[in-house]
Amino acid sequence: MVQPRYTPMIEQYLKLKEAHEDAILFFRLGDFYEMFFADAILASKVLEIQLTARDGGSTERIPMCGVPHHSAETYIKRLIDKGYKVAIGEQVEEATPGKKLVDRQIVRLITPGTHVEDEHAADVQLASLAISEHFYALAVVNVSTGVTQALKIPRDETLLINEMTTLQIREVITPSVFQESALLQSLEHHGISHSRHDGRSVEAFFEVLFEALPTEFEQKNAARLIDYIKTTQKRTLLHLKAFHVIKMSNIMRLDGNTIRHLELLKTMRQNQTHGSLFWLLNQTQTALGSRFLKQQLLRPLIDKTVLNQRYEAIAALHTEFLVRDELAAVLRQVYDLERLAGRIAYGHANARDLKQLERSLNIIPQLKDLLTTLKTPLTLDLADKLQSLETVVILLEKAIEEEAPLSTREGGMIKRGYDVALDELKDLALGAQDWLNALEEGERERTGIKKLKVGYNRVFGYFIEVPKGQAALVKDEYGYTRKQTLANAERYINPALKEKERSILSAEEKALKLESDLFLAICEDLKQHIPSIQHNAQSIAYTDYILALALVSEQHHWHKPTLHDDHTVTIKHSVHPVVATLLKDQSFIPNDVTMDDTTDILLITGPNMSGKSTYMRQVALIAILAQIGSYVPAQEASLPLFDQVFTRIGASDDLSSGQSTFMVEMLEAHFALSKATKRSLILFDEIGRGTSTYDGLALAWAMLEHIHTTIGAKTLFSTHYHELVSLEESLQRLKNIHVKATEKEGTIHFHHAVAEGPSDRSYGIQVAALAGLPKTLIQRATQLLHRFEKDNQGASQPTLFDTLAWPTEEPSNSHWLEEALETLDLDSLKPIDALNALYAWRKKIKEKS
Ligand code: ATP
Repeated sequence: MVQPRYTPMIEQYLKLKEAHEDAILFFRLGDFYEMFFADAILASKVLEIQLTARDGGSTERIPMCGVPHHSAETYIKRLIDKGYKVAIGEQVEEATPGKKLVDRQIVRLITPGTHVEDEHAADVQLASLAISEHFYALAVVNVSTGVTQALKIPRDETLLINEMTTLQIREVITPSVFQESALLQSLEHHGISHSRHDGRSVEAFFEVLFEALPTEFEQKNAARLIDYIKTTQKRTLLHLKAFHVIKMSNIMRLDGNTIRHLELLKTMRQNQTHGSLFWLLNQTQTALGSRFLKQQLLRPLIDKTVLNQRYEAIAALHTEFLVRDELAAVLRQVYDLERLAGRIAYGHANARDLKQLERSLNIIPQLKDLLTTLKTPLTLDLADKLQSLETVVILLEKAIEEEAPLSTREGGMIKRGYDVALDELKDLALGAQDWLNALEEGERERTGIKKLKVGYNRVFGYFIEVPKGQAALVKDEYGYTRKQTLANAERYINPALKEKERSILSAEEKALKLESDLFLAICEDLKQHIPSIQHNAQSIAYTDYILALALVSEQHHWHKPTLHDDHTVTIKHSVHPVVATLLKDQSFIPNDVTMDDTTDILLITGPNMSGKSTYMRQVALIAILAQIGSYVPAQEASLPLFDQVFTRIGASDDLSSGQSTFMVEMLEAHFALSKATKRSLILFDEIGRGTSTYDGLALAWAMLEHIHTTIGAKTLFSTHYHELVSLEESLQRLKNIHVKATEKEGTIHFHHAVAEGPSDRSYGIQVAALAGLPKTLIQRATQLLHRFEKDNQGASQPTLFDTLAWPTEEPSNSHWLEEALETLDLDSLKPIDALNALYAWRKKIKEKS
């Protein structure tokens, strides 16, 4: 087949496209990025832009669509959000007259994990995944902030996916030999896009990046990630930090379900931040602190020393309230230093970014002093790590305008006094303005044309403008040459103006060029300080985090927990941190939790709506708060360090993955039962609800026995199966507790108070009545309940034609006659029927009386 012949430009396009087949190519053409062929058809649909066509040589017209280059970012974002990649093909040389085809190159490949311009980029991670016989190696980087981490995960797909979703990985790269198609499919289901890439060897990079990684396998995996970033971003990114190894044994493991069920970052129902634990705690002053808080919530610690240091710092902030307020005021002036460092490394920084950097660094000495005043080991350490970077502050203060523009090409960035040559050029241009004013004045006098003006436009340059009506007054002797004719004016130039124009334009142009060079030089100079800026960012984030914990705990009167090495839990007078805060009227009833050496399992019974779920979550949240180093919502809390928290709470239909409620329930139960250790905390809420009574009861029973005998984890297990309460006799370390409720005149009253022993009954019917079910239905249910309880304690199944009749609702008031009259259709009523009705009513009234 003969290859179709294209124009040189389309040939150039095809060549670039060949190397980036899996990306949509944005091909720069003047002020537009154009897309061609299949890319154009796809992009026009996704972006809802018009599809056109153009000639591309001797073949059929080529499909084409385009977006203006100045607004390309919004279009790129939409494509990336949908999981596509975008290759940017830029003109890399100036178009000069006579030159047929300017050179174009791919300057960057934007992928879901490398889209640093996105406002949420600081939350998005890019990862590289490799498999060994027993482990997955995961190297993770946030391209916008440069923060890296490395993890080794036992070869278990559920664990891996859990970890990857928790880390918010958006894109994963694997070696091209990676064959696990089921795993890749699961990742895709979790919104993680995938690319293959085989990187260069570790030696091709700064080895310091990989120093902490213990095995060659992990190093190679991390090197692949760095190589992918280099290849796609086409620049050396100095802000990438050395890989930080996350030791799973050092952190409290929380899987994705637990994070969701406990509403650590978002609420279950509305999937919003408001109402989550993060929302409650986030009294941070900076983006850095808020991100740090999120990370801590996902990865609580098991390190008693560090946690105690955090409590101590919080205590100091409570006493030193003046320092605390000053700290807050100082931190409020700090911008997102991690992202600023990223923008500098990327070469994306503008003058405003540098001003933000200056303002953020400017507070370091003050911050250092405040932290030192607090005198705790943690705050002293944080103070110690801060680097004042005075030279940078002085440089930026001297060089960068206070109100700098976003653009780096239009001037207005560099302050007067920073560079003599620049000032001279600017003076020249400024001096010219005086000269132009004088020229205008002089020419008006000379010609007598009062409305004569000296002006400038970008296309025609400087001109002398005379209104049409007075053009006849322009004499040859003035030496004017006509330049442009407008509807109501003539524009001229004269030799003096021409000469001046040349000097002004060249001064302005030179000034702009010089300003941009100076700016770039400053940015270049800043690159060497990126690691120090990042260290500062880390200390500031940590400080802000501790301050937020101090503020929250003071506001809500929380107390310092005690961590111990025993296997006991003692919590006094505790509340659910979020629910209690949302119930502003302080109506939340505090409760105790006691699990001594002889108690591993608390079996919780009580009516629906009494607060069982709340109580269970409260315990887990208190454990998590303690292990992120926070005070807790209890008067007293003495806790062990839990290695993991597992939850099976509430119905969470995972319909999108095609799993039924019951299947999800069993999968979550399996995950917990297979991974939990004696040091874990398990919350099982109403397990077995999604199947028939006997199945559910049997499963719940067996699970309790398994946890009791095989695992020994601290477990809170709520149930509506009353049969389970008898387990207290056979399982020594299981204790019954119940949430109290009482019934008064058929209405249930919730006390929300937890007490020892099992609940006496379930009050299901009373709760149904509260929900407003029809009275007759409630009466019928009560009838049936008595009957079931009589026959065989509820074990018999009702027959379809049960002999018990439905209760008929007795009209309890005397409005029956009114109602009967109201429903009578008078228009179609025959006289005889009306008479019959009257007889019937009179009879009824007589009977009643
Ligand atoms: P179900 O069995 O139907 O799931 P439950 O027993 O688990 O119910 P929760 O969902 O925990 O009950 O709580 C029911 C309601 O009671 C919630 O709206 C909660 O705000 C309120 N509540 C729970 N505990 C308390 C408490 N200690 N003090 C005041 N209100 C509470």
